[in-house]
Amino acid sequence: MVTEAEYWDALQSRICAHCSTGDGSGGCALSNGEECPLKKHLPLIIEAVNSVYSKSIGPYEEQLRTRVCGVCSSQSAEGNCRLRAEAKCALDRYFPLIVHAIEDTQLKKRLHLGSQSSHGSRIPSTSK
Ligand code: SF4
Ligand code: SF4
Repeated sequence: MVTEAEYWDALQSRICAHCSTGDGSGGCALSNGEECPLKKHLPLIIEAVNSVYSKSIGPYEEQLRTRVCGVCSSQSAEGNCRLRAEAKCALDRYFPLIVHAIEDTQLKKRLHLGSQSSHGSRIPSTSK
């Protein structure tokens, strides 16, 4: 199972390193007091992405809106979000890349664990 810290490492190198509000090397350059929704809602984002398996981004976006935006303090009761409307939410802006990073991290871990278990497996001896 991929840990939250492992997901965050992957997101930092793939998203934060290229984010327009990043420092260019994986750090965040948001000013004091501002918190990025990607960091703030990470467990819910992981849940949302892992609840879908689709080649299309639409079903992932539906989960994002329901599970994350639905509880985010930046969204109004009517479902509007000023940060989203002004492309100031990094989670919304980079969402397709975020989905890809989360799924890719999971796949790599599975392949890694698979290769570990096949190296460690013992073929029963048939000799007497
Ligand atoms: S705003 Fe969010 S995505 Fe961008 S660098 Fe900061 S933590 Fe990363
Ligand atoms: S789009 Fe708006 S409501 Fe959704 S996570 Fe970003 S800031 Fe929160």
